[in-house]
Amino acid sequence: MYDVIIIGAGPAGCIAAKKLAEYSYEVLLTEKMSLPREKSCSGILIPKSIQMVEKEFGKIPADVFSYPPINKGIILNSADGKEYWFESEGYNIWRNKFDRWMCLKAEDAGCTLKTLTSALSCEEKEDHVTVNFARRSAEKEGGFNGRMEFFQEKARFVIAGDGASSRIRRGLLKTPSNYIITYQIFCKGSIDLDSGFFHAFLDPKLSQYDAWFNVKDEYLIIGVAVKDASLMRYYHSKFVSYLKTHHNARILSEEKDEVGLMPHITPDFRVDLGKGRVLLAGDAANLLNPMGEGVSIALASGYAAAEAIKVEYDFNKHVNPVNILDRYESNLKGEIDYMKRQWRFLSTLSPDFKCFK
Ligand SMILES: Cc1cc2nc3c(=O)[nH]c(=O)nc-3n(C[C@H](O)[C@H](O)[C@H](O)COP(=O)(O)OP(=O)(O)OC[C@H]3O[C@@H](n4cnc5c(N)ncnc54)[C@H](O)[C@@H]3O)c2cc1C
Repeated sequence: MYDVIIIGAGPAGCIAAKKLAEYSYEVLLTEKMSLPREKSCSGILIPKSIQMVEKEFGKIPADVFSYPPINKGIILNSADGKEYWFESEGYNIWRNKFDRWMCLKAEDAGCTLKTLTSALSCEEKEDHVTVNFARRSAEKEGGFNGRMEFFQEKARFVIAGDGASSRIRRGLLKTPSNYIITYQIFCKGSIDLDSGFFHAFLDPKLSQYDAWFNVKDEYLIIGVAVKDASLMRYYHSKFVSYLKTHHNARILSEEKDEVGLMPHITPDFRVDLGKGRVLLAGDAANLLNPMGEGVSIALASGYAAAEAIKVEYDFNKHVNPVNILDRYESNLKGEIDYMKRQWRFLSTLSPDFKCFK
């Protein structure tokens, strides 16, 4: 019996695992991929993320950074052609390296790490949760060799940080995931936009949500977000044409493309922090700041969930799970209120941006 099983080794899962292991709990951290795993992300850490990461994990190693290493902020282009500059120094990192580094720090703190291990479902019992897992045998060159092992683990509590399409959330709350699809292409070429900034475009002619441009190492990254997956290439090509005509984009080659998911924040969206002995954190809880900034709130929620367990669960199996969930909600209330204010503010900047109207 573990004290806590943590599902998903993204920022939410890694910080929760590290904190709880440091508090001497028996912690199992499971990740469905092998590490380092790819995660579609612009890789910008805002100052809040940097502060939390440096406090909890230490200095970020140099090889985790992409070039330019400093992000100077965001330039937001509204639907009515206005430009808003939000200057603030952040970091520009590669998520595969960043998440692996955090995960290894959690392992160093004493948690057990199982990769290639996918959580299928959680069953709540009177004083614990049983988690059903499928584990793939090690990947061979050229792919997975086809063997699967099914097993169960038990814990007093579970923290699910399994991302925007969270299987655990769907099973727990019996609600479908509500996410938007992101599509970005890594190109070689040139453009007359400042590579130090993240450039966001809220014109509904260019995407169903937002479109963006940023630079990482030698790549120009051009992305769009859509609700309807069948339209992602259509909007992407419109956005590329826009960048060609308005910003002199010259695309010499397309090196790779990437599809990702983000929680779909709408005016009636809800944050779900869990049920019973299962707490949800990060994207799995529907936590996301405007312009797809989610690392800071994933870290804050993983941390808040770990602190709630620490305060309410004194290695005592008769703890009331309601107290833990309440404590988690109150730990995170300030962050959630801030997130909602940010979304409202964004909707005042761009008249056609539908969120939070
Ligand atoms: C295109 C794009 C650009 C973005 N850019 C930024 C940015 O620049 N800055 C920023 O702050 N945020 C950005 N975000 C948002 C950010 O990536 C997320 O908000 C953040 O990663 C959420 O962290 P998490 O820990 O909740 O989930 P994730 O980082 O998604 O981690 C979830 C982990 O769970 C694993 N997993 C999933 N299912 C299971 C399962 N059943 N069992 C075991 N493991 C499982 C996954 O493999 C993954 O490793 C971006 C998102 C996208 C899509």
